[in-house]
Amino acid sequence: MDVIVARNRAELAEARRALGAHGGISRSTAELALVPTMGALHEGHRSLMRLARERADHVVVSVFVNPLQFGPAEDFSRYPRTFDADLAVCAAEGVSVVFAPSADDMYLPDRQVGVSAGRMGTIAEGAFRPGHLDGVLTVVLKLFNLVRPDVAVFGRKDAQQLAMIRRMVADLDVPVAVVGGPTVREADGLALSSRNRYLSGDDRRAALSLSRALFAGAGRRTPAEIRRAAREVLDGEPAVSLDYLVLVDPATFEEAGDDHEGEAILAVAAKVGSTRLIDNVTVTL
Ligand code: AMP
Repeated sequence: MDVIVARNRAELAEARRALGAHGGISRSTAELALVPTMGALHEGHRSLMRLARERADHVVVSVFVNPLQFGPAEDFSRYPRTFDADLAVCAAEGVSVVFAPSADDMYLPDRQVGVSAGRMGTIAEGAFRPGHLDGVLTVVLKLFNLVRPDVAVFGRKDAQQLAMIRRMVADLDVPVAVVGGPTVREADGLALSSRNRYLSGDDRRAALSLSRALFAGAGRRTPAEIRRAAREVLDGEPAVSLDYLVLVDPATFEEAGDDHEGEAILAVAAKVGSTRLIDNVTVTL
C-alpha cells in the first residue's frame, strides 16, 4: 500500500478510517504506532520507524516543525524542511501515513490552553530553552489526541524530552505506550541530528568533542570522576560553547548525588558556531 499523505486533521481522520478499512485498526491489539518528527529525516528517525513497525501493523509519522517549541531567537525559520525526501524515506520504511499539518491547522488562532512541563521543564534543557518543553508536550499531546496511537516511539537522543513525555503520560493518564529507541550515531560517534547539516568542516570536527566527552565520562566510576573526565574533553575544544554538562537521574533530570546508584544520564548541550547540539549517554553507577 502506498503511503497516505494527510495534510490536515480531516485528511488524517480519513486516513485512519482507510487503515481500518484495510483491516488494520481494531481495538483488540496494539496496532497503530506514532513516530513524531520535525522532518529532515535521517537514520535516527528511520530506526524509530523500524521499532514502530515491530510493534504495530501501521505506522504514522508526523512531520511538523512545531513553532511552539522554538524560542524567539532560535532557528524556527531556518530549520531544514525537506518534505519530498522525507516522504521517500517514509515510503521506504513501510510507513502507512505521513501526517504533515500546517501550523494553522494545528493551532487555533486564539489558543489558550497548553501543557505545563512543571519543574522538569525548567532544569537542564529547560533552563536554556524556557518554554521549550511546554511546547513539546503540548504538540505531542495534540498529536496523541489526533492520531490516537497505541504506541508512540521517541529517541533517547532527546533524553529529557523522552522523560518528560513519560511523565506527562503518567501524570495525565494518557492512554499510549511510550517506547524509547537508542541514539543512532555516525561511525565517528557524532549523534545524528537534522541540525548536523549546518556543520561546516571545522564545526563538524569540533562537534565531535560532545560525544567524545560523553564517552570519556562514561568510562569513569564515580559521579565526580565522570563529570571531570567529560568536562576536560570539552574544555580542550575552544570552538565549543557549552550550555551545560550534567549527570542526572534519568526519570527526574535532577543532578545525581555522590551516593546515586543505578542508571544516570550524562547529558551535554553546546553551540558549535551557530548550531546548537545536544547529546547524552546512559551510565550505570
Ligand atoms: P526531531 O525530528 O529532531 O524532533 O526528532 C524526532 C524524533 O527522532 C525524536 O524522538 C528524537 O529523539 C528522535 N531522534 C533524533 N535524532 C536521533 C538519533 N540520532 N537517534 C535516535 N533517535 C533520534
